[in-house]
Amino acid sequence: MDFITRSSAALQAWRDLLGPAQVLDSDLAWREYGADTSGLQRRLVGALRVQDAEQVAPIVAIAARYEVPLYPISTGKNWGYGTALPVRDDCVILDLGALRRIIHFDAELGVVTLEPGVTQGQLADFLDQGGHPFLVPVTGAGPHCSLIGNALERGYGITPYTDHFGAVTDLEAVLADGSSYRSALREAGGEDLARLFRWGIGPYFTGLFTQSGFGIVTRMSIQLARRPECVKAILFSLKEDALLEAAVERVRLILQRLPGIVGGINLMNQRRVLAMTAPFPVDRLDERGLIPEAFVRQLGAQYQILPWTGFGTLYGPRRLVIAAQREIRQALSGVASRLLFLSPEQASTLSGIARRLPGGFARRLAHTTGTLAKSLELVAGRPNETALPLCYWRNPRPLTDGPLDPARDGCGLRWYAPLVPMRPEAVRAYVEMVKRIAPAHGIEPLITLTSISDRIFDSTIPVVFQRDDATAQAAASACYAELLEAGRGLGCFPYRVGVDGMDRLEGLLGESRTFHARLRGAFDPQGILAPGRYG
Ligand SMILES: Cc1cc2nc3c(=O)[nH]c(=O)nc-3n(C[C@H](O)[C@H](O)[C@H](O)COP(=O)(O)OP(=O)(O)OC[C@H]3O[C@@H](n4cnc5c(N)ncnc54)[C@H](O)[C@@H]3O)c2cc1C
Repeated sequence: MDFITRSSAALQAWRDLLGPAQVLDSDLAWREYGADTSGLQRRLVGALRVQDAEQVAPIVAIAARYEVPLYPISTGKNWGYGTALPVRDDCVILDLGALRRIIHFDAELGVVTLEPGVTQGQLADFLDQGGHPFLVPVTGAGPHCSLIGNALERGYGITPYTDHFGAVTDLEAVLADGSSYRSALREAGGEDLARLFRWGIGPYFTGLFTQSGFGIVTRMSIQLARRPECVKAILFSLKEDALLEAAVERVRLILQRLPGIVGGINLMNQRRVLAMTAPFPVDRLDERGLIPEAFVRQLGAQYQILPWTGFGTLYGPRRLVIAAQREIRQALSGVASRLLFLSPEQASTLSGIARRLPGGFARRLAHTTGTLAKSLELVAGRPNETALPLCYWRNPRPLTDGPLDPARDGCGLRWYAPLVPMRPEAVRAYVEMVKRIAPAHGIEPLITLTSISDRIFDSTIPVVFQRDDATAQAAASACYAELLEAGRGLGCFPYRVGVDGMDRLEGLLGESRTFHARLRGAFDPQGILAPGRYG
């Protein structure tokens, strides 16, 4: 049988299994899942909407029988990394978004076991309604994104458990032969222990299911951080770009001295903060389509944004947070200006006052304080859409009603997200590299450095472009490729790549690729689960 005959036989078998309404043919699948923020296109065989976790094993059996590959998604909002699209053409998307059960919640110890379709927003509502004092591990991607897809990509946020896979204790998955994976501790010691202890017993396998496609994860247990008595944001600015190196040293010192109290610290350049604060000045661009440096300075003065802005988080008992504020003030003295500690309540009061003031300056202030108040909600574990308008910055289309969806709304975005050692000279070399390469492709150099530990930052560069312009799309792709190469030359490399970055990654690998291929050969010899994912 050729591939077309096999795939139509498989679609028919899936219709018999799931009912016709849950099986989308190629055209429908493309309409539903085909849009991607990087403008990537994939040929899709179809899509399946799973209604019950028990359906996954028989779905996989059909895929194996007809050798038609599946690509699992949780909510499919992997914006900037391929959205819902597979690495390779000719896959069937396996949409697990309708599996929205919170299977178990340990209210005493704060561990939740959930299905792939459970979103950040759903978990926040669940915790609120039950009066459970725990935080959702939020990301900037908003309330409609999954917890499982994000943890499987090893995403991160700024609540106390910043490393989202780091908080995962146990999971269950369906393998390519239709069998199930359960952890040894769960089988030998029971579900309760497996939910409470990450490493299990014997070889540690849970991590094998992240960034791999080795199995279809149908449930996951995640530890939640307890809501602390006091939550505060640390805000500061650097008056001059030349203070960056000193700031990196001081940030490192703060993280070393105050582990557990400081959640994380972000450093953002002026253009990055302006992208969240000011409208894109279409009528003031230079010949490359970029905002001229002089106008950036003018906007900076108007919106009170200095060359670098620091944004960090503090969590803990009130007295400890107050003591930490003193330490931080001391550590940043002589480097940072406008140091401020703000609780979510204070930020919301400030925003309310600014909204009532008259005049142009007050309007800008109201916008800035409004964004700040929303960011503090995120810090306090309440997901919202405040980070998403960034994708719309260069997008000429008006926002549609309902939840923001940058892929659907035609926004152009790719994330370049390299790890950068927390050394002043490494950070400087990296920043200069981004400032040189991005503008050469007509891309604004929007730089964030987020502390992952007291040793390393992850930097996120949103390559924001106009998706309906083929030239801009090609430039964004070339920009990403050059950033990746130049960053690698400096010792910086992404912690995660988009679906069209897998080939490039593979090309850099040697023995690690052989090891991966041996595991893949053992788990999935026919290559029917997420083929090509990370090697
Ligand atoms: C403005 C903006 C801000 C963002 N901020 C953040 C941020 O702060 N932190 C962050 O980490 N990301 C961020 N993102 C990136 C991304 O949107 C999120 O990581 C998002 O959570 C991923 O989408 P998802 O949860 O729908 O996962 P999905 O798209 O469903 O899954 C991601 C990948 O994991 C695999 N997968 C998913 N589910 C399964 C399963 N059940 N079994 C096996 N494999 C599976 C698939 O290969 C899939 O492609 C941001 C994006 C934007 C546009």
